[in-house]
Amino acid sequence: MPGCGEKLEKLTSGSQFDVCMPGECLQMLTSSACITYNQNAGGCNRMLKVLLHGSCSYDCAYCPVRLDRSRLAFAPRELAETFLNLYQKNLAGGLLLTSGIPYDTDEVMGELIETARILRSGGYSGYLHLKILPGARREDICEAARFADRISLNVETTGESRLRTLSGIKEYAGDIIKRLGWIAEAAPGRHTTQLVIGAAGETDSEIFDCVTSLYERVSPSRIYYSAFRALPKTRLALRESTPAWRSRRWYQMDYLIREYGFNRTELLPLLEDHSTLPNDDPKALLARGREPVDPNSASFADLIHVPGIGTVTAHAILQTRERRTIRTPRDLGVSGSCLKQALPYLAFSGAARQATLAGFR
Ligand code: SF4
Repeated sequence: MPGCGEKLEKLTSGSQFDVCMPGECLQMLTSSACITYNQNAGGCNRMLKVLLHGSCSYDCAYCPVRLDRSRLAFAPRELAETFLNLYQKNLAGGLLLTSGIPYDTDEVMGELIETARILRSGGYSGYLHLKILPGARREDICEAARFADRISLNVETTGESRLRTLSGIKEYAGDIIKRLGWIAEAAPGRHTTQLVIGAAGETDSEIFDCVTSLYERVSPSRIYYSAFRALPKTRLALRESTPAWRSRRWYQMDYLIREYGFNRTELLPLLEDHSTLPNDDPKALLARGREPVDPNSASFADLIHVPGIGTVTAHAILQTRERRTIRTPRDLGVSGSCLKQALPYLAFSGAARQATLAGFR
């Protein structure tokens, strides 16, 4: 029988494909179980990401978990106690619990919930992220939402026909989209999802439609994007992996939609001539060719369209100009690379020419 340490090692490495941070920095600590992030996730900065079951009877073409024949698994109490031990020793600051599905979905979902229940009844009040399995029952989703800070179900791809190329078992509308609706009701503002970019050959136009529709219909607090990796021995082992920059561009697109409220019409030109987004900052691409903006008269919406200017800076500019005219880049309250990005798109009232970095010095 494998010991707890061996299980932790294998079942944490099997969970690495579930992303819960953009730009996730996977760095094993001295304990191989702990994964550290470069930013906070849900209030914790070291999260144990672990599978309850390391094998799966599903058939997702890119997934290495389905190949595991060892049937390595934790029992709910065993995992809860293992995690609490790490938590008390300050080796883990939070838990993301997911699982392969080696047998009945409801049974495995019940085990995930049971682990969460044991943790909470054992006094654990820290961060807990529970994965919802495709096809999970509504009552189980509600129960998971009761115990967890965050729940998530991976949408994986953009539609039924794309999913069919990846799995003959999962059903897009029923197992995923319908469940995402239930998740949104059970945990409003506390749920996320993940897209695997490129696994099913999705175009960026399809991803765009999928992402905008998800934000409109089920309002996830955020969507994660992982670039498809062709892993040895999986059915897609010979397929070309998706370049990392493509998921990076999707995080940038996502930010424009979610944080800046860019609408479809504004973003569609980026996709007009490409089935794939250009490898460039989408905000900068949209700004090129536009008239420079005067920070003394521009609306908030115009300001946040300027590369290098985000919502905080835009608000600060609005406040500054109530007190005085913004005459020079120095008055903007922006510095460094953000200023460098913004200057080509700004024109200051009364300035004879567009501001330049040289003029700033
Ligand atoms: S459901 Fe699919 S993606 Fe999830 S563990 Fe099983 S085979 Fe892998």
